[in-house]
Amino acid sequence: MKSDPDKDAVFGHGFADIIDQWSWDETIEKIEGARDADVRRVLNQAAHSGKPLTPEDFMVLISPAAGNYLEPMAAMSRQFTQERFGKTISLYVPMYVSNACTNKCVYCGFNHDNPFTRTTLSMEQVKQECEAIRRMGPFENLLIVSGEYPALCGIPYLEEVLRTCRPYFHNLTIEVQPMRAAEYERLTHSGMNGVVCFQETYHREAYKKYHPRGMKSHYDWRLNGFDRMGEAGVHKIGMGALLGLEDWRGDVAMLARHLRYLQKRYWRTRYSVNFPRMRPSESGFQPKSIINDRQLAQLTFAFRIFDHDVDISYSTREAPEFRDNMMSLGVTSMSAGSHTEPGGYSHSKEALEQFEVCDSRSPKEVTEAIRAHGYDPVWKDWDSVFD
Ligand code: SF4
Repeated sequence: MKSDPDKDAVFGHGFADIIDQWSWDETIEKIEGARDADVRRVLNQAAHSGKPLTPEDFMVLISPAAGNYLEPMAAMSRQFTQERFGKTISLYVPMYVSNACTNKCVYCGFNHDNPFTRTTLSMEQVKQECEAIRRMGPFENLLIVSGEYPALCGIPYLEEVLRTCRPYFHNLTIEVQPMRAAEYERLTHSGMNGVVCFQETYHREAYKKYHPRGMKSHYDWRLNGFDRMGEAGVHKIGMGALLGLEDWRGDVAMLARHLRYLQKRYWRTRYSVNFPRMRPSESGFQPKSIINDRQLAQLTFAFRIFDHDVDISYSTREAPEFRDNMMSLGVTSMSAGSHTEPGGYSHSKEALEQFEVCDSRSPKEVTEAIRAHGYDPVWKDWDSVFD
């Protein structure tokens, strides 16, 4: 592949260099063209061969044809999950530290053009949030989230946030703007254990339409960010697509290819996937592609059958009944008691939320539901002393 030195200097190398070998339209055609016999072949192989499935096999399992095999897929997903994770659900909580953002994602209430008063927490406020979260439950996994505004929430700010949160939690993950490898590495020295980033959609052309401005408008920069995390030795990488932008089957097929690519190159890293469905936000954006509960369940089973080790996470975007039903069928981690506005735990609602939470149960109620299903809530799945 011919390389452009100027572009390479800015966007680096990685999965963005190879993703175009797969045509989006052909990927969808292949998925939609899968037949009963293909589904039976893949399920048979998953049950008996012991060989990991390929992304092509995964595509068969998310096909409309595989929609008729939900029962055997659910049973297999449950079995593989229990073999690898036991009967546990790991709990985490997001803490929004800033809703300032230089990007203009058309589907997000935090987008730069939305005129509202932005909030970026001071360290005293971060401390208050940590204390309020600890009062809600014995959380040890904290997800620190901010909009993308490097001048306000750049590396020095994030370092301070990590150091402030560290005494309260064992495991700190960030979901912020993509960075250079050296910056990720620097944050690991301040206690960062993991990074979550959503490509939103893998459809290169459509991506530009949804992300018209700011650093996020650069598809390659964002996509190659996962390679930079791997190069920096980030312990756990969380990835996913925002379901509702483009055809969900196309996006998750590309996600499966992306995961396999990363696992081969950065094999020391642990991975998690999340399939957030679009929720109402201040932007008023309407999803283009709807994925219903049955299809999301099929996707979850398919991903577990495809990869027995990946952590599959459901957030409070999903409804309580649906989260409860999926607890024993492939999901391994969940958020609980979430607020998606900065300062939301220690103060009454003042700042704008990123999206409306659907499961508004308290952590206590969520843990009771987990126990009622015969599972154990796990508050700490990684100890910082291992870092
Ligand atoms: S999705 Fe993230 S990057 Fe985009 S506008 Fe919202 S906060 Fe900013």
